[in-house]
Amino acid sequence: MPPRAVPRTVGDFILYYYAKLVIAPSAGEAGNYRFIMDRYKRLKRGDIHMSDYDREIQKLAQQPGVCAFCGKQCKTVITEVVPRRLGGPVGIHNLVHACPECAASKKDKDLLEWWCNDLGRDKDELPRIPAGLFLKLAYERHTVGFGLKRRCEDIRDIWHGGRESK
Ligand SMILES: [Zn+2]
Repeated sequence: MPPRAVPRTVGDFILYYYAKLVIAPSAGEAGNYRFIMDRYKRLKRGDIHMSDYDREIQKLAQQPGVCAFCGKQCKTVITEVVPRRLGGPVGIHNLVHACPECAASKKDKDLLEWWCNDLGRDKDELPRIPAGLFLKLAYERHTVGFGLKRRCEDIRDIWHGGRESK
């Protein structure tokens, strides 16, 4: 859960989790609160952008032989991060290589529901590559749908856009 300094909106949650799950681990600063908040604020100010990390995340996502979810090295299959039935777009920016076990287990489930409910994993420990694709897609979705300012209390609400703010 983001600290209280992060406003409870979909847009701010996306930026906070991008700083935490995507930027901090690549800098060797995973779990470093001050680093995460610094990068979150820079994202918010527009000093840095999620798209600065696109190329790296895309390259990792398209790397065959390594599961983007569990890190296992094996013959991988390509699977969607956000399933089509939930409005996931067609295209490589929604695809990752996954081991057959993760791919079969996730199928067309919501990423967070699968990770938290089926696997029993912590929502704050989403793996970096699917998290990077998911958060970017969610940001684009809510930019188009004017959902970035809606209230959000949980990363699991991000895709569906939180609730109407009062
Ligand atoms: Zn796997």
